Amino acid sequence: MVSPRRAGRDPNPDPPARVASLKLPILGYHAVLPLATSEQVRGTVAVHDFRLQIEWLVRRGYLGISVSEAAARLRRDDPQQDRAVVLTFDDGYRSVIEHALPVLEESGFTATLYIVTAAMDRTTDWYVKKGGRAFPHASWNELENAAKRGFDIGSHSVDHLRLSKVADEVLTDQLQRSRAEIAQRVGACDHFAYPFGDVSEKVIQATKAAGYQTAVTTLKGFNTPDTAPFELRRQMVSRTTSLRRFRRKVGHWW
Ligand SMILES: [Zn+2]
Repeated sequence: MVSPRRAGRDPNPDPPARVASLKLPILGYHAVLPLATSEQVRGTVAVHDFRLQIEWLVRRGYLGISVSEAAARLRRDDPQQDRAVVLTFDDGYRSVIEHALPVLEESGFTATLYIVTAAMDRTTDWYVKKGGRAFPHASWNELENAAKRGFDIGSHSVDHLRLSKVADEVLTDQLQRSRAEIAQRVGACDHFAYPFGDVSEKVIQATKAAGYQTAVTTLKGFNTPDTAPFELRRQMVSRTTSLRRFRRKVGHWW
């Protein structure tokens, strides 16, 4: 008896594993502020640096897109697509509406804003705790206006809690109530960003059950059609991200 493995070539081999042709970077920002880089607290980006990053993307022929567009591209897996970079902003700061969106619009770029619904129209002390100033969050009117201009509004929960640590009913409420309020204000809310990047299998299942189509993490890496839609990889950009490191985050190695 010859063992099956040594009986020569299988006439009907399994098809080769599919090689994903599309590799999308998703960049994550927080506040974008008109301050010198040295004055910024962790997690913020100076408008000047943000503009340099967007100008570099334009020069290299990249298109900045929203998570909605990225989800469609990943489903299609079309190798003929433009070079694209997905742009996301967490927490819904007014500074993003004031300083980042106009820069994106000049280049024909769009983006996704993940907002914390209970923080809208308020000024939180989140950056004060990190030794920074208090930054206001956008108003609902400003978000509605951004949505009309083509920006995608996603949810970052109601209260920005660590979702893997909360009770089941709180988890469901944080996911459903924020989605319902955003959908009511701007028409749709299909995408979620886990607060603090904190996620577990239970949180993933609850996010799916709440009706979202995708969710982003803060795990590094690129996204292909094989990436789990509720574990999208994301590269965070902050004041310490040099243009050289920014290029690497986009996947530009040359
Ligand atoms: Zn956040």
